[in-house]
Amino acid sequence: MAKKQFKAESKRLLGLMINSIYTHKEIFLRELISNASDAIDKLCYKALTDEGVGMSRSDFCIKVAVDEAERTITVTDNGIGMTAEELENNLGVIAKSGSLQFKKDMDEEKKEESGIDIIGQFGVGFYSAFMIADKVRVESKAYGSDEANAWESTGADGYTITPCEKEEHGTKIIIYVKPDSEEENYSEFLDSYRLRGLVKKYSDYVRYPIKMNISKSRSVETDEMDENGKKKTKWETYTEEETVNSMVPIWQRSKSEVSDEDCIAFYKEKFHDQDDPVKVIRVSAEGAVSYKALLFIPKNAPYNYYSRDYEAGLQLYASGVMIMDKCKDLLPECFQFVKGVVDSQDLSLNISREMLQHDRQLKTIAGNIEKKIKSELKKLMDDEPETYAEFYKSFGLQLKYGILANYGMKRELLKDLLMFYSSAAGKPVSLADYVKEMPEDQKYIYFACGESIAKLDKLPQAEPIREKGYGILYLTDEPDEFVMNMLGEYDGKELRSVNAEDLGIESEENKEETEKKEADNKELLDFVKDSLNGEVVAVKLSHKLKNSAVCLGVQGPISLEMERYFNTVPGAGEKVKAERVLELNGEHKVFAALKAAYETDKERAAKYAKLLYFQSLLLSDAKIEDPAEYAALVSDLMI
Ligand code: ADP
Repeated sequence: MAKKQFKAESKRLLGLMINSIYTHKEIFLRELISNASDAIDKLCYKALTDEGVGMSRSDFCIKVAVDEAERTITVTDNGIGMTAEELENNLGVIAKSGSLQFKKDMDEEKKEESGIDIIGQFGVGFYSAFMIADKVRVESKAYGSDEANAWESTGADGYTITPCEKEEHGTKIIIYVKPDSEEENYSEFLDSYRLRGLVKKYSDYVRYPIKMNISKSRSVETDEMDENGKKKTKWETYTEEETVNSMVPIWQRSKSEVSDEDCIAFYKEKFHDQDDPVKVIRVSAEGAVSYKALLFIPKNAPYNYYSRDYEAGLQLYASGVMIMDKCKDLLPECFQFVKGVVDSQDLSLNISREMLQHDRQLKTIAGNIEKKIKSELKKLMDDEPETYAEFYKSFGLQLKYGILANYGMKRELLKDLLMFYSSAAGKPVSLADYVKEMPEDQKYIYFACGESIAKLDKLPQAEPIREKGYGILYLTDEPDEFVMNMLGEYDGKELRSVNAEDLGIESEENKEETEKKEADNKELLDFVKDSLNGEVVAVKLSHKLKNSAVCLGVQGPISLEMERYFNTVPGAGEKVKAERVLELNGEHKVFAALKAAYETDKERAAKYAKLLYFQSLLLSDAKIEDPAEYAALVSDLMI
């Protein structure tokens, strides 16, 4: 029978896997048992919805057996099993879902050296068996099928799938343990005590019995008599099937029984994350609805988090039986990075997905969970700011999108969790901290949007605010400005853009003075506006500028950042344009030069006007549509 080849990247992954996780060989058993447990979960779930499946929970078990002479370890389950096609699809392509990211990672030499990073991302899975095996055989019979098939492989060189005999549905995995070498003692895994220890260590909470034949010894009477006329005894060995795991799910156990470390280990294994979560949240609620929840806030976003591929949701159990793998209704969208399980005895086992959505109990649980996540995140922010910063790097964007979603429905929930870089603090701060540090005479919370902190730090129109010693929030993420608009205020303090006409720092006198000066120069300002051929809606004298000659402001609801954003969204239709206002510094020497030119040489004055407009665009990080014109203008004025 012709061997099928693994897909190219699978081959490399397999190579990496087999050769790079020396210290963790023992996890192969945990992976196989987890798969077996998942397969039983799947059939259990089917049994809930399909009356034809005449099995109950107590019929299910996982068996682990060792044959020292044959050098094999066998893991058997009576779960859902796999058809030939499923064997092909599930075991023929390694890290299928992650292959794209995987390829990306492979290009980096460093990753290649370590290898372990890549594997961690996908969960080691079934293939970890090859760390200790030179051959693996998987016999499987899908539930409800008459045929069984065997998948067999000796590693990276490919695999075969052939029909085989198998009575019961489910899967039997036979691992042919490698011979010992000088460096490696593979035989340790053929010791049933060692295996039993591994089951206890990694799979104790698996909710189905994991049975093993354990060899034991006992004393039995013989026919021989001793000197006292009593029958002699001797030791004999026998084997007895034992359920090795305690089966109580980890979330059902009390805090005194299960440490945070245990929970973290559970998280990493169950949710295939190589990093510790930033927070473990345990909930044990009694009352209107009783439930237990074990939730985790991850440190890093999965590579597909901000894409459509990411599937959010908590695993939902009704009295210890999984009824849904990714229950979306338990989490608000803004917290969809949270992973974990919820188990309630108040939910009906036979509830359908459609009914579940409208279930009152489920809604109550979801409401409580939302509050709990918020308060735990807030606590993290206050007590462990560095850890929170790490979390925020991964999921801050999610919180911001959460504020914007559904017309700001969750803004009250989320506003305390936001952080922005503050020019005064020189680091990201919460809005509460910003307000706390505001000098008494400061009216508004100021913000400026742009590409980078370095650029924003030089924004001319922010000069007077900085000079007053007020902090400015520098916003560099795409949704930031929309978030500000959605919030409007924080703690009674209005959020105000540094581009706003009125920054609330100018004295009435000053304003009047500027207005008067503007009136005096009306003709010149009109001339400048006309010279710019409709690029700006107004030209003004600014009271905001100190050292700079110009800046670009806007009128109306669309800012320069929004213009940039909307025009990069694919398929957004017609281009939007912010209503630009050119603001000139009436005290600046450049203004005097402009004025002088206007009086003596109008053509030159028109060129100055354009040059100033181009400067304002550059300073605001806005695009110059015709750079050639700008270059020609500068050259022209130099000669
Ligand atoms: P993962 O468990 O992370 O999805 P694995 O490489 O361990 O990845 O397994 C790949 C797939 O093979 C599983 O998702 C499952 O569909 C299938 N599979 C593995 N073991 C079993 C089993 N004992 N019974 C049924 N299906 C299985």
